[in-house]
Amino acid sequence: MSSIRFNAINQIGTQNNPLKVEGAARITGIFNENVFTLAAARQYLSDDAYKSLLASTRGGKKIDRAMGNQIANGVRAWAESKGVTHFTHWFQPLTGLSAEKHDSFFTLKGDGTPIEEFDGGALIQQEPDASSFPNGGLRATFEARGYTAWDPSSPAFIMEIGQGKTLCIPTIFVSYTGESLDTKTPLLKALVALDKAAVDVCQYFDKNISKVTATLGWEQEYFVVDAGLANARPDLLLTGRTVFGHAPAKGQQLDDHYFGAIPERIYAFMLDFEKESYKLGIPIRTRHNEVAPCQFECAPIFEETNLAVDHNTLLMDIMLRVAKRHNLLVLLHEKPFAGINGSGKHNNWSMSTDTGINLLAPGKTPKTNLMFLTFFVNTIKAVHDYAGLIRASIASAGNDHRLGANEAPPAIISIFIGKFLTDVLKQIEERVSGNFDETDEAILKLDIHKSIPELMLDNTDRNRTSPFAFTGNKFEFRAVGSSANCAVPMTTLNTVMAETLKTFKVDVDALIEKGEKKEVALLHTIRKYIVESKKVLFEGDGYSEEWANEAANRGLENVKTTPLALDAYTTDKAQKLFANNNIYTHLELEARHEIMLEEYVKKVQIEARVMGDLASTYILPAAIKYQNVLLQNITQLKAAGLSKDAYESQLSIVEQISNHINIISKKTAEMIEARKKANELSSSRDKAIAYCDEVKGKYFDEIRYHVDKLELMVDDSHWLLPKYREILFLR
Ligand code: ADP
Ligand code: MG
Repeated sequence: MSSIRFNAINQIGTQNNPLKVEGAARITGIFNENVFTLAAARQYLSDDAYKSLLASTRGGKKIDRAMGNQIANGVRAWAESKGVTHFTHWFQPLTGLSAEKHDSFFTLKGDGTPIEEFDGGALIQQEPDASSFPNGGLRATFEARGYTAWDPSSPAFIMEIGQGKTLCIPTIFVSYTGESLDTKTPLLKALVALDKAAVDVCQYFDKNISKVTATLGWEQEYFVVDAGLANARPDLLLTGRTVFGHAPAKGQQLDDHYFGAIPERIYAFMLDFEKESYKLGIPIRTRHNEVAPCQFECAPIFEETNLAVDHNTLLMDIMLRVAKRHNLLVLLHEKPFAGINGSGKHNNWSMSTDTGINLLAPGKTPKTNLMFLTFFVNTIKAVHDYAGLIRASIASAGNDHRLGANEAPPAIISIFIGKFLTDVLKQIEERVSGNFDETDEAILKLDIHKSIPELMLDNTDRNRTSPFAFTGNKFEFRAVGSSANCAVPMTTLNTVMAETLKTFKVDVDALIEKGEKKEVALLHTIRKYIVESKKVLFEGDGYSEEWANEAANRGLENVKTTPLALDAYTTDKAQKLFANNNIYTHLELEARHEIMLEEYVKKVQIEARVMGDLASTYILPAAIKYQNVLLQNITQLKAAGLSKDAYESQLSIVEQISNHINIISKKTAEMIEARKKANELSSSRDKAIAYCDEVKGKYFDEIRYHVDKLELMVDDSHWLLPKYREILFLR
């Protein structure tokens, strides 16, 4: 009974008490404490340096070397005042995590004098070796070197979890010849494209608008489990999910976890990571229990998209680190437990103007309403026209387990807009036709405006089953996976929106050119877009089978697996879209596709290996041991002269166990063969499909089924892997 499993269980009751976390009296007292905010810059920079930083933060202006040195000195002085000795460029390579390489300020001058130094060069650009990061073949074509370059629109910060404090400079990461190797570079480009296209369209309504910012408010779902129990589950440690485990007698059927009281140990952990987040300027606002046992969610106040993305990446990192001090493990995987809800990361998205208007909020006047409708309908059109790319932007091995699994939206991209707006669109479609003129336009505009109070009511009526839902003043992209870097879906969404708005402007201008009044031209074009894209609108139950059938009838795609979903990146349409908007060159797009396929293959490969290892070294030995106990018992009962009745059940159990053992052994061996075959394929796409269909599809569920049956039969004291009931309910 001294297995790691039982040790961990014993420890929970006796030693794992909640940590005492010193909370801040007020959040405002620590908020941004470790961020080089403009206020800090004011204090540590000369007037010229401050102005130069401000210009580059707001307007994307380049900083020259001399000014760079001044800014770097100020940043160092600020960091040193907080006990920092090292700095790093902080970037987000295509592994989905953040990366850092620390350097000290400390250096030796030519004459041997030790000094602390941080110059403009070190602030603005560094050259980490790109060869150890995913590059999708870009490395073969180009030099292995890559460089990181400062992104002044996201402020420098100090990471101080654990030992040591490090000054982190948010950067982009590109190959030596300029191809992007990270998630931030294309995102920044997409945000520029959106800004330009949206401002152009805004000009129809308000000449004062000169900047449009995409906003993002993510909601992060996650599981927290005891680290001791998790340490006894190699699958959790290596893949982030349990590859085996029978459903517990009690799961989430009582609905007693959602919004329930937060367990004390977890609560301490939340206080702790929230505190660290506040210091880094992450404006966390909400925390609550989610539907599944052990599942939780937090969400910040929304921010400009690039900053929001950085903050989410940082938050995931902070959570993982802080959990360690509480002897907990955070699971960011989309589906850590079979049969239990998975985790998503809703991306709430909108656009706001420099005049302070949320473009997806219904207007206060009939005129601003038309602006709202313009952006609203363009979003629908964008998602409709590029549904394949939207789907691809959330594709991952982890999310494949979640999408369409009865607790998450299906892999069909559709949009929920609510009853009232459905009606508004219908009215536009019906009334903007024939000799629709200025007078009709004025009446329609007023009619729509009069019903705004109804729209406000309608917002509360949320459809939780839609992958992309309008929620009153923003769209909520709900199909994003919990471990995803939001930059990926945000790059696609903002790009398709930019492209659609550009086309919209061309269409409206063409009508104006023909002599239409501006408002009439706008409404005609809006109507056209409604008609062209309405098949993507769906108000019903997205989880139902009827919807899958209806979607098929409507011609909407339902691509269930990552390798096929990623095909969307290879179409001519995608290439044109990304090239036209200066997001990815053809080469970069191919590299991304390759990297994502490789990542998929690696993930499934690791899971298959872990399954094989666990089956042969954990599951089968336990089953055989228990079988021997039974056999001994049978032999002894026989020897005592008892009739067959006395040991019939034991015999039947031995037989069933044998059957499961045989199938597990056979299937595991076959799975290894399937892997070998897949590995021989040279095209990444073929390999990914083989891993999906021939390895995962053919073997994962079947092997698991027999292992989970054994879990129910084998003496609990022989079972080595912590069970679902323990991982999910002990804390
Ligand atoms: P809930 O969905 O839990 O009812 P809210 O609707 O208030 O809560 O917001 C959910 C998330 O949407 C929050 O992270 C919030 O910051 C974000 N959000 C609200 N408005 C916007 C906006 N204009 N742009 C982007 N995100 C937003
Ligand atoms: Mg939500």
